[in-house]
Amino acid sequence: MKNIRYGQQVIDEDDIQSVINVLQSDFLTCGPFVERFEKALCEYTGAKYAVAVCNATAALHLSCLALDLGPKDILWTSPNSFVASSNCGLYCGASVDFVDIDDKTYNLSTVLLAQKLEQAKKNNCIPKVVIPVHFAGASCDMQAIHSLSLQYGFKIIEDASHAVGATYNQLKVGNCQFSDMAVFSFHPVKIITTGEGGVILTNNKALYEKAKLLRSHGITRDTSTVQATGKWFYEMLELGYNYRITDLQCALGSSQLTKIEAYIKRRHEIALRYDQHLHDLPLTLPFRDAKNPSALHLYPILVENNKKNLNRKAVFEKLQEKGIGVNVHYIPIPSQPYYKNLGFDQSHYPKALSYYEKAISLPIHYALTEQEQDYIIQCLYEIFQ
Ligand SMILES: *Cc1c(COP(=O)(O)O)cnc(C)c1O
Repeated sequence: MKNIRYGQQVIDEDDIQSVINVLQSDFLTCGPFVERFEKALCEYTGAKYAVAVCNATAALHLSCLALDLGPKDILWTSPNSFVASSNCGLYCGASVDFVDIDDKTYNLSTVLLAQKLEQAKKNNCIPKVVIPVHFAGASCDMQAIHSLSLQYGFKIIEDASHAVGATYNQLKVGNCQFSDMAVFSFHPVKIITTGEGGVILTNNKALYEKAKLLRSHGITRDTSTVQATGKWFYEMLELGYNYRITDLQCALGSSQLTKIEAYIKRRHEIALRYDQHLHDLPLTLPFRDAKNPSALHLYPILVENNKKNLNRKAVFEKLQEKGIGVNVHYIPIPSQPYYKNLGFDQSHYPKALSYYEKAISLPIHYALTEQEQDYIIQCLYEIFQ
């Protein structure tokens, strides 16, 4: 029985050696590898500042706090995302709402965003923060979102958890050209991994300093009082957290980052082969914008009407029976029981819901072999035959 996963990490000898080197060094955490990883991420993306943290959920939370999101404020994001994209607003006591998705890209629709902002302006409830999520690894229309932010005065945090290595407007996603901050995830199913990990990228020094302070308890040792009082001195200036990442993780991340172009290239090869082999089947294949290459974290297909009357559930189960570890991204966030209890009605996000009802994520990752992909394609043909 095959067991092909939809996404997984690739760890080579260099990665292992880089972690062993840290184990044999003086610092397992708060050492030099954290800053080295942050510097490498800045060089890679072109962002000025980076704050590496224990996961992307923490990165989103700190980003919201750095932007002073609080109980009187509103945060908007996409319903077609992982729950962390909106939970970060709830952590801050803010209220949360969702902007439905675009039919073609499955990203937050900028047309619907503009309409919702117009309405919110009339009702005096403009969001303080909007979090566009670069679904499946393809950037949202950041230029349009940025110009709306100037018009209506909201801040932008890109949830680029899927989009490490993606390009937008000729630049790497994460450079924050059209946003205040951007967040990456380094969970093992994502493009590069640190086991668990995330980063905040920004070009704004004040946001950088605030996020860095809150990463480690809100404590600083970096004041003139330290000199006056003594070297033991430290001060807690804000109510922060322990959201630090270890040197072990950052050494792994730095090693992985050196290989990212190969990872992305392989994902594009896999997507192209799916495109070529699946277009005759009753499926909608994912759109790709050649001008703004995706990181291709996911390859979501939609099950359309077919002569055997198979729905998404049937196709999903048949693929699983054949040892293909398919998945579904995402159950719309407002459909989750916790959000329903907050009063959200999933029917207000009809596009995210109808996308979800048909979606299956096919395996796509660096370690997926050509034979495994052929097997997946063959199984899909047999299912619809
Ligand atoms: C994975 C993911 C997160 C959370 O990342 P963690 O590093 O696991 O906390 C947030 N948003 C999106 C869109 C994700 O896919």
